Amino acid sequence: MLIDGKALAAESETETKKKVQRLAASGVVPGLVTVLVGANPASQIYIRQKHMGSARVGIRSENVVLPEDVTEDQLIATIRELNLRKDVHGILLQLPLPKGLAPQRAMATILPEKDVDGFHPLNMGALLLGTERLVPCTPLGIIYALERLGATLEGAEAVIVGHSNVVGKPLAAMMLNRNATVQVCHVFTKDLAVHTRDAEILVVAAGVPGLIKREMVRPGAFIFDVGINRVGDKTVGDVDFESVKDVAGAITPVPGGVGPLTVAMLLRQTVEAAESQASQDRGNS
Ligand code: NAD
Repeated sequence: MLIDGKALAAESETETKKKVQRLAASGVVPGLVTVLVGANPASQIYIRQKHMGSARVGIRSENVVLPEDVTEDQLIATIRELNLRKDVHGILLQLPLPKGLAPQRAMATILPEKDVDGFHPLNMGALLLGTERLVPCTPLGIIYALERLGATLEGAEAVIVGHSNVVGKPLAAMMLNRNATVQVCHVFTKDLAVHTRDAEILVVAAGVPGLIKREMVRPGAFIFDVGINRVGDKTVGDVDFESVKDVAGAITPVPGGVGPLTVAMLLRQTVEAAESQASQDRGNS
């Protein structure tokens, strides 16, 4: 079975749109600002998708573009201004930043309640403690899809290939919070196949085209291919889709799998952030 990320994302967006309409009735329009430093072409594409998604559900969105040679202090000053704006409920700093600019301080400057990408240390800490607030969007999209597909995480053997802060680590925490048994593999894992063959749920986020082949997959597994790789003029994932698709129980395509879910979760979290900021404002007035 193909896991249709676009269709699942559309379902989530329909729910989000309804929430936006409810907020509008109380005079609140959710606002998202993306901050892009430099002109990385892939980042420009991702930003465009986020703004198109915002327009679909009724979120007001802006893109702030800073020059490649912006200093860390200037970036932080921009974020502080956005933190103060009442019409901005979500702030997203697009990664990667240009070489020489570390993301940690800037990420930690975003107000935790506006951190709709879920990378603030407080939100990451809450995730690890099992009290999830705003969380990284790609892992959230995978959890959302599993729930929608009726997969049981409790007691499931889950294997994640990749241990980045963006995907692998937060997803491992989210799966543990739902009582899966989780193995996390990475570039130093000695024998990848030994682990991946255990997986009832296999998530691959390595950025290596064709890394996962048929013989590495447990028959019937749910497979989420997070990888986005340009090979010639094609975009492919990390899973050798043609050889794996028949042995998998369900598998995401690339493109059209995890990508649209990631955007849908960003929209969802932006509206949730707007809801909670609006109710806090009502409480304070
Ligand atoms: P990253 O480069 O930060 O981390 C890659 C991870 O894969 C590391 O843990 C590394 O140890 C591991 N790895 C690399 N080669 C490996 C190998 N041969 N065997 C086992 N593990 C290996 O990557 P990231 O930011 O997590 O992104 C991973 C991929 O997912 C990229 O292709 C990226 O473009 C894509 N991505 C897609 C979305 C989406 O929405 N679809 C979101 C984020 C990232």
